[in-house]
Amino acid sequence: MSPLADRYGRRFPYLRLSIIPACNFRCTYCLPHGYHAEANAAAPLSLPEITRLLRGFTELGMHKLRITGGEPSVRKDLTDILRTAAAVPGITKLAMTTNGTLLSRHLHEWMDAGLNAINVSVDSLDRAAFARITGHDRLDDILHGVDMALAAGLPSVKLNAVLLRDVNDQQLPAWLDYLRDRRIGVRFIELMQTGDNLSFFHDHHVRAETLEAELLAHGWQVLPRAADAGPAREYRHPDYAGRIGIIAPYSKDFCTGCNRLRVTATGDLRLCLFGEFGIPLRPLLQSDDQVEDLVRAIGGQIGRKEQGHFLHEGRTGITPHLASTGG
Ligand code: SAM
Ligand code: SF4
Repeated sequence: MSPLADRYGRRFPYLRLSIIPACNFRCTYCLPHGYHAEANAAAPLSLPEITRLLRGFTELGMHKLRITGGEPSVRKDLTDILRTAAAVPGITKLAMTTNGTLLSRHLHEWMDAGLNAINVSVDSLDRAAFARITGHDRLDDILHGVDMALAAGLPSVKLNAVLLRDVNDQQLPAWLDYLRDRRIGVRFIELMQTGDNLSFFHDHHVRAETLEAELLAHGWQVLPRAADAGPAREYRHPDYAGRIGIIAPYSKDFCTGCNRLRVTATGDLRLCLFGEFGIPLRPLLQSDDQVEDLVRAIGGQIGRKEQGHFLHEGRTGITPHLASTGG
């Protein structure tokens, strides 16, 4: 079957699958009051349901899978999910985004299961600021886990930091020290407005261009954009082993290179993080002989994908916070 393409010629080799909406952190911009399950909430997809979903997506050309959440490591069968995903023919890159709280404990188990890329969310290298943002004083152990991943030779190790005005937007010197000798990528992400964080967004949103101007002034150079690049603008500097990526969802043309689809923990297909609807795939994940129906259903929906998001107009779609959709 030919790979999936939308009305704008974009292809989707990349799936971001949330495996659980729950989280053990309470990041100020995401779940400031912690995770609370909705009454009568459906259970997350089971391992057999996930396996069928992945088979369907690989038939449509998906080869990169990112496991996310909520916090994926809260799920007890995470290692089984990774092992199963790694064994699905066609999946060549198996990544996970995590807050890193269980990284030092489970790194080797996850790598043995087939994980080959990890993004760890570290919003500040300052212990007190980190604790204020996430609600947990866990920075040292998380950074230890990151160093373990680098030492173990995990092929891709990146950190994510959400830029927050007056909270962590003046901390470039600490990041530069960190990056001098570490072969690691740090991606600074512009805060996005979601259904629940409007006043926080107004108080703390800062354009990533401000940081980019600072980088250029420090001699960092922007790398040419690869044809299959994700949304980050990548910077490097000859004196630093690490790299810096900038993810600026409010910048022009951010959606032009969109190459990803999302599925929520309960099996709803989301064509865009900020879309107005989800398409329930779960009924098509109940037996192995439904894979062709699943493939047809996904293929039939792709024409509904919009050219871009409407965040500039304050339209956040049905996403109350990114933990609900898989950020
Ligand atoms: N719990 C995991 C973690 O924090 O890495 C995975 C899920 S989290 C929703 C995925 C990523 O989305 C994290 O890097 C987080 O910082 C980012 N994120 C969450 N809410 C965001 C927002 N409103 N704007 C920008 N990034 C956000
Ligand atoms: Fe949890 Fe990740 Fe949201 Fe923080 S950003 S509350 S770690 S889901």
